[in-house]
Amino acid sequence: MDGEVRTSDDVTALAPRLCCAGSVVVLTGAGISVPSGIPDFRTPGTGIWEHVDPMEVAHIDAWRANPARFWSFYGERFQTLGDKRPNGAHDALVELERRGLVDAVITQNIDMLHRRAGTRELIEVHGSIATCSCLSCGARVASAEVLAQLEQSAVPLCACGRPLKPDVVLFGEFLPAAALERATRLAEGADLLLCVGSSLEVYPVAQLPAITLRHGGEVAIVTQGPTPYDELAVARLAGDVEQELCGLLAAVG
Ligand code: ZN
Repeated sequence: MDGEVRTSDDVTALAPRLCCAGSVVVLTGAGISVPSGIPDFRTPGTGIWEHVDPMEVAHIDAWRANPARFWSFYGERFQTLGDKRPNGAHDALVELERRGLVDAVITQNIDMLHRRAGTRELIEVHGSIATCSCLSCGARVASAEVLAQLEQSAVPLCACGRPLKPDVVLFGEFLPAAALERATRLAEGADLLLCVGSSLEVYPVAQLPAITLRHGGEVAIVTQGPTPYDELAVARLAGDVEQELCGLLAAVG
């Protein structure tokens, strides 16, 4: 960033809608974390996913079949994500929430960057790297403790002796029902659903804009690259996500 805030013309159209809406809900995907140095695994040839098949290493069956192999990959991922910091886009959403202009943030991201930025009403529909759980006894362990264990052994274990699983939704797992239910209610009640950094193609996030539209709300999109909702959106911001959200924040005054 060179300090100059460049935004799409649509920011001018979006700001008053944001201010007038009774309920604004934000939906975020991998794109909002890219400026923090976390590559979107859907972008070919980037980062940690370049040499691995996510379906193979991040699948619940992989964890069950070979916890050591699973953790050799996931432990590294935990460590990499643990160093990352929120960027201006996360901060802009915190400020909009602080001003009463945003009711809640629903995210697909597991990287904890919304938490670290300070978002209060946060629904992590794919879980997060904050904790790990034991699927046998239900115990929950902080990730810092899990990382400490990984320095000594290949598989972090629960006090009951069973392998721990990160509290992120792996491929082949169901989404957390409570979080999904809350996200659905928020989408139903939103006058404006602001979708940020998501291609809106992956379930369940792909359905939320349709739910908002069906209940009479509007959808706005801040994402580089096409989404299935582009034609239905009241505003479509396709620039850099940090610059667009900082521009939006400036435009609401
Ligand atoms: Zn246990």
